[in-house]
Amino acid sequence: MSLTIDRGRLLSEIDALASFSEAEPPAVTRIVFTPTDLKARAWLKERCEEAGLTVREDAVGNTFARWNGPDPSAPVVGTGSHIDAIPNAGKFDGVVGVLGGLAAIRALQQSGFRPKHSIELLVFTAEEPTRFGIGCLGSRLLSGTLSPGAARKLKDNDGATLDEVRRGAGFGDELEQVRLPSGYCKAFIELHIEQGPLLERQRIPLGIVTKIAAPASLCILIEGSGGHAGGVLMPDRHDALCAAAEMILAVENAARTSGAIDTVATVGICEVFPGAVNSIPSRVHLSVDIRDTDLQRRDNVVRAMDTTCHSISAKRQVSIDSELLNADAPADCAPAIIEALSQSCRAHQLTFLPMVSRAYHDSLFMARIAQVAMLFIPCRNGYSHRPDEYATPEDMVRGALVLAETLAELSR
Ligand SMILES: [Zn+2]
Repeated sequence: MSLTIDRGRLLSEIDALASFSEAEPPAVTRIVFTPTDLKARAWLKERCEEAGLTVREDAVGNTFARWNGPDPSAPVVGTGSHIDAIPNAGKFDGVVGVLGGLAAIRALQQSGFRPKHSIELLVFTAEEPTRFGIGCLGSRLLSGTLSPGAARKLKDNDGATLDEVRRGAGFGDELEQVRLPSGYCKAFIELHIEQGPLLERQRIPLGIVTKIAAPASLCILIEGSGGHAGGVLMPDRHDALCAAAEMILAVENAARTSGAIDTVATVGICEVFPGAVNSIPSRVHLSVDIRDTDLQRRDNVVRAMDTTCHSISAKRQVSIDSELLNADAPADCAPAIIEALSQSCRAHQLTFLPMVSRAYHDSLFMARIAQVAMLFIPCRNGYSHRPDEYATPEDMVRGALVLAETLAELSR
């Protein structure tokens, strides 16, 4: 089978999609269910229908564009990503997986290939947490990771509920219908820019993801007692910020001593009350993000934080309250898909790097209901989520080609 990715068309479609934006080019801002997002969706649906794909949308706006195989009940082979973009982002994050996936399907169609399993392009709603504060909203619902009840409680920054917003955007069905039946998807492959520097630095054109790391996030509230910075002597203090400082170092130490380089932990927020130069901090709020590719190791670190909270609390006589806000499980990619991707790379004499996805993607949630893998292409300087995000046409075409061959292999 000889496949040709239409490079000119892929590039012009990436530019066309980038024109649906609320930011000045080259920046792209496309927030889910805004008029701009809805125009982009309509444009994309037309491109899919032009390619002869059958398009359906679910209650949360996840879009499925299917190239029908002979048996409609056979599990589909899926590919895709997202088209929403955070404020002042670039035009490649997510989009390469969607338009690259469409380019791959077109190349297969033109080669005369006929899939035994339907091949489906998935466009997930709200991979970015910008509007509803939760990432991968669409794929969480599809995979049953987020319940419809929990989703109904989500609100955007203006206080509008998810139900109000999605209905206003024309997606009126019940959220209960979003979850895919078990066995729906045979395999799912997501093409994506790396969003990190490794491939470019090593001049390797493709990365095959073997594991997707996942975060647990905690909110830690420390309450001590405040007072005048001059009046309260040191033996009498219960300084919440000093306790927080010990806590922050304990978070770092727990990740450093987990036994694996893949454990990372970050305190990204430290809010100090009352925050005055001559006042002893009485209250501190910390946000903690702990990530790993291994669930048990990650959760060991999370549990270690509980012990640390108790000991710092006892030692400093402050109260420490730790709340686990979210804990997603990491995912392993499927060996069979990794092998199919590797074979395609070898057939084209393309070197590839087996790698970990340290950011999470919709594939993390698709992994709950299907075998998944991800294919990374380099992005300049590792930049992403900024207007100068860039992937070369050659890298995108290579990615789409390997994707196309792997979709064909899995749908035979
Ligand atoms: Zn993305």
